[in-house]
Amino acid sequence: MATGIVGEFLELKEETDADVLAMQCGDFYEFFADDAELVADELDLKVSQKSSHGSSYPMAGVPLTELTPYLKALVERGYRVAVADQYETESGDHAREVTRVVTPGTLLETTDAEARYLAAIVREDETTRGSVAATADEPPSDDGPYGVAFADVTTGRFLVAELADLEALRSELYRFDPTELLPGPAVRTDDALLTAIREELSGSTSLFDAEAFAPGRARHAVHERFGSETVDSVGLDSELATRAAGAVLQYVEETGAGVSAAMTRLTVYGANDHVDLDATTQRNLELTETMTGDADGSLFDVIDHTATAQGGRLLREWLTRPKRDREAIERRLDAVDALASAALARDRLLETLSGASDLERLAARATSGSAGAHELLSVRDTLALLPALADAVEGTPLADSPVTDVLRRPDREHARRLHEELADALAEDPPNTKTQGGLLRKGYDEELDALIERHEEVNRWLDGLAEREKRRHGLSHVTVDRNKTDGYYIQVGKSVADQVPDHYREIKTLKNSKRFVTDELAEREREVLRLEEARGDLEYELFEELREGVAEAASLLQEVGRVVAEIDALASLATHAAGNDWTRPTLAEPGTLSIEAGRHPVVERTTDFVPNDLRLDEERGFLIVTGPNMSGKSTYMRQAALIQLLAQIGSFVPARDATVGIVDGIYTRVGALDELAQGRSTFMVEMQELSNILHSATEESLVILDEVGRGTATYDGISIAWAATEYLHNEVRARTLFATHYHELTTLAEHLPRVANVHVAVDERDGDVTFLRTVRDGPTNRSYGVHVADLAGVPDPVVERADEVLDRLREEKAIEARGGGSGTGSGGETTQAVFDLSAGSFKQATGNGGGPQSEHRTAGADGDETAGSAGSSSVEEDANATTPDTLDDGLDPETEAVIEELTDLDVNETPPVELLARVQQWQERLE
Ligand code: ADP
Repeated sequence: MATGIVGEFLELKEETDADVLAMQCGDFYEFFADDAELVADELDLKVSQKSSHGSSYPMAGVPLTELTPYLKALVERGYRVAVADQYETESGDHAREVTRVVTPGTLLETTDAEARYLAAIVREDETTRGSVAATADEPPSDDGPYGVAFADVTTGRFLVAELADLEALRSELYRFDPTELLPGPAVRTDDALLTAIREELSGSTSLFDAEAFAPGRARHAVHERFGSETVDSVGLDSELATRAAGAVLQYVEETGAGVSAAMTRLTVYGANDHVDLDATTQRNLELTETMTGDADGSLFDVIDHTATAQGGRLLREWLTRPKRDREAIERRLDAVDALASAALARDRLLETLSGASDLERLAARATSGSAGAHELLSVRDTLALLPALADAVEGTPLADSPVTDVLRRPDREHARRLHEELADALAEDPPNTKTQGGLLRKGYDEELDALIERHEEVNRWLDGLAEREKRRHGLSHVTVDRNKTDGYYIQVGKSVADQVPDHYREIKTLKNSKRFVTDELAEREREVLRLEEARGDLEYELFEELREGVAEAASLLQEVGRVVAEIDALASLATHAAGNDWTRPTLAEPGTLSIEAGRHPVVERTTDFVPNDLRLDEERGFLIVTGPNMSGKSTYMRQAALIQLLAQIGSFVPARDATVGIVDGIYTRVGALDELAQGRSTFMVEMQELSNILHSATEESLVILDEVGRGTATYDGISIAWAATEYLHNEVRARTLFATHYHELTTLAEHLPRVANVHVAVDERDGDVTFLRTVRDGPTNRSYGVHVADLAGVPDPVVERADEVLDRLREEKAIEARGGGSGTGSGGETTQAVFDLSAGSFKQATGNGGGPQSEHRTAGADGDETAGSAGSSSVEEDANATTPDTLDDGLDPETEAVIEELTDLDVNETPPVELLARVQQWQERLE
């Protein structure tokens, strides 16, 4: 057990839940033991050894004045750092205690422009839910609702919501990407839930006092910060959301010293405000980063032309939160439209904007007290841009556009007054410290001016003293100077030192000179010191008042910052639209997506892009997209999703013409490369994603499926893809694009009224395939697998044999399709089509087969022995059957038992050897 200083360090470390402790020892902050090794590793500090009572401990340290950059570096790497300061006890000893904990979510001094969110998640407690706590083995429970709060302490942004389920939670976590997360009591005890949350989280999780999440205390914190009236007027009526918000506020208060005052505005949002984009979809569409995690090549990267940090942050947020409110979208479109066609005015606006500092961040620095004179100068200069922006717009086509409405939003008079005050107060070139004077202008404060004047007078007297003494006493070699130990002195060369007058008092002899003081000089010295102190104190006091005034105007600064951000983001969209020949989309009611000569916004930048049309509407709501690998299927579907999304953020779109019906959600499922890398089973992931889409999508959604069922055996895969198509078509009725390599699915178009086929055309000549990248109506003429093998030069006998095997397989199986459905819209009629793969055709069967029991039955690959080779007739029997049980009529009990076992068997979960053994048993029993 360590004693002494190391022992004290280890004890303090025990008390805090921080990852690292920095403990003051005199003029240094020291790290000991494991912490020393950690900071040495992370920050390249030198480690020495400290011996303590026979043991030796690693030790690393930084000077007191240099702690901040080290703290910042550690916290930006995700560590929570506790700082213990030293103080003197009554008995004169040194003691230390932890005075603050710096955490990733409460760090103000960030260098990058991106938002840094601190988040809290609350779920109802187990006791009130009445359910048993989940264990690690159970799958994460989807049970919502969840209360969430996201706070960016660096900008004061504070968003609060109640979310219905885990999927919605994941999507928000992906969107806001918090740097630090506070799980509430019921969340932190649910291992499975925590694991699910962590999958979407790149930041760290911190445990915060469970009491802070309690309803009463949390509500109190929210009311105290925002006032009860605000809380009522913004509609914060969810207890869970309030608990999350309250916990975040208390955490910031506890760790972030004064920062919470920057939270001036509470924003409550609801599930219906934005287009539902689950985390998978945000990732698949590569909105802010590519599938491989790079920012380069993302949609944001391509369309971002913003000139300011806050503009970039806002545009990124727009991209991940497209709107559903048609009026709001139209307003943005109007602004982008005006900016796109007024090139000159736009350039002038952008030039003016480029001088803007990050006001949202400066507001937080002002409220936390860390803003210095340079920061306030930036505030002054950015406020001055407001009239400059208005000037840039006046007399241009932008004057009548929503751009002007945006500029009118902040209180211009308040901004003018604050600007004037700062301009009157601040010196043009202030020093970096707040305590040495020189921060403020002359004329700002009478008392200060008087002090400054007297100070300058005394300084002038001191400056002229050497000359005066020379003349008065006939001395040569006289200088007047000042240092720390001697104060002010008259220095006289040794050769003339014996000629000094009597009232000179010697204080020091040097090699070539002597130093003297006089009563008069001593008196002036006292005055200088007094004046310096008084001036420093008064200036600091006045500066602090000024800073507090700015802090009180935090919400004005945030508003102006927001205006700068909005104009910047709108101008960025306009710049991109104008430079890349994008068009304004026409917004329409849900259900329509009609694109003429559409392009993919990212791929078009690097490729000679072939534009394509797309039409989805009431009659044609589901497109099956076929074509060989690499022909352009996923590009075609993604471009549709991206055009939809861009339109709903209020952007122009890459197309000659586009009519875009507003959707409530965009859902995608594409190849699961990254999940494979994470070691999750691809098929399981694929099915989870499919399941989420089938649950979440509505008639007003857009669904993109890029292959479904590839992760399992062919007939399994076809069956699932088939059934999913029917369900999306009949029940969900979402607009859907579905790329598949199951050629069999193309026949669905003949039987499901709103399904149509399109294919990406290729030109085949002399065994060469040319990708035309053109999308045409109708299915591809054949299944491509064997064909591609042929083209790739696989030997003829193998290709021929493959064709034979394929035919054999087709003869053996049949697939049944059910149209119409009991659900919405199609009058409740039920059509069933039985697809006989061997004949390559459908046989129609209508009637009562759409009853609940048989609704989702699909004769699949596994085990429907009765389908046999006479597939169509036996399925016709199926169609007329009232319950599945009657299928088994006429079979002997042993056969029935075998069939039952066979049906119950989970092929994916049973080891192959066991499968074989069981097949053998069944054969024996059937004999
Ligand atoms: P698939 O989904 O059919 O396998 P992709 O959509 O991935 O094919 O497209 C393969 C490649 O073809 C893409 O990387 C892209 O560069 C190119 N491509 C796709 N569509 C077009 C197009 N319309 N014009 C030009 N190039 C395209």
